[in-house]
Amino acid sequence: MREILLTMAWAMIGMAVIVFLALTRGFTAGYGRYADRSKYGINPKLAWFIQEAPAFFIPLYYLRRGPSNSGYELNAAFLFHYFFRALIYPCRIRSTTKSPVAIVAAATFFCAYNGFLQGYWNAFYQPEEPWTTRKLVGSLMYCTGMYINHKSDTILRELRADGGTGYKIPTGFLYEYISCPNYAGEIMEWIGYSILAWNLPALAFAIFTIANIGPRAVAHHKWYKETFPGYPPNRRILIPRIF
Ligand code: NDP
Repeated sequence: MREILLTMAWAMIGMAVIVFLALTRGFTAGYGRYADRSKYGINPKLAWFIQEAPAFFIPLYYLRRGPSNSGYELNAAFLFHYFFRALIYPCRIRSTTKSPVAIVAAATFFCAYNGFLQGYWNAFYQPEEPWTTRKLVGSLMYCTGMYINHKSDTILRELRADGGTGYKIPTGFLYEYISCPNYAGEIMEWIGYSILAWNLPALAFAIFTIANIGPRAVAHHKWYKETFPGYPPNRRILIPRIF
C-alpha cells in the first residue's frame, strides 16, 4: 500500500503541473466571479459542502486507526481545517453564484483523492517522531496561515453584510497590501503542514495548492484592476511589496 500512496502523491504533483499550465495559459476555473450564469449549476453552499466533505469524512475514518501519535496529530490538524471548510464555511458564505457541475465533480474527486492519501498515510506510514524545531516551525506556519485565511474570508463575507450580491474592494488587515490574503493564508497553511509532516503526500498537496490558487490569485488581481479604476495601485497579489 505504501508504494500505491507514493505513486498517488507523484500523480498529484503531475496533476499540479497540468493544472498550473492550464491556469497560466488562459483557462480560468469558472466558479464565483468567473461563472457562466447562463449555465446550469449547483447552489454554492451545497456545492462547497459536497466537494469538501470527502476531505473531512475520509481522514476522520482513519483518525484513530494507526499506531503512530505523530500520524494522529497530523490527521487531527488536517481535519481541523476541513471541519471548517466542509461544515462551517458553506453555511457562512453569502455567494449566490451557482457552481458548475463539472467544477464541483472535479473538486469532489480531488478532495476524496487527497483525503484518502493524507488520511491513510498519516494513519499507517507516518513515523513516530518527537517534537523538533522543524515541527514547531511547520505548526506555527500552519496555524498562522489558517488564521490569515479565516480572517480574510470573513472580511470578504462582511462585504455583503448589507444583503448585496455584487463585489466591492476589500479593505483592512492584509487587504491593504495584497489582493488575495485568503489564498496567501491557504498556501502558507499547506506549506506549514508539509514542513510539519515532512512526507511526500503532504508536499504534493502543498505543491498542488500553489499551482491551483496561485494563478487564480493572479486572475483575481487582474480582475480587480480592470473592474475598479480606483483600485489601490500599490496592492500586490500574494506577497506584500514583492508579488
Ligand atoms: P474567493 O476569494 O474567490 O471568494 C470567496 C468568497 O467571497 C465567495 O463567496 C465570493 O463570492 C466572495 N467574494 C470574493 N471577493 C469578493 C468581493 N470583492 N466582494 C464581495 N464578495 C467577494 O475564494 P474561492 O471561492 O476561490 O475560495 C474560497 C476558500 O477556499 C478560500 O479560503 C480558498 O483559500 C479556499 N480554496 C482552497 C483551494 C485549495 O486548493 N486548497 C482551492 C480553492 C479554494 P462569489 O462566489 O460570488 O464570487
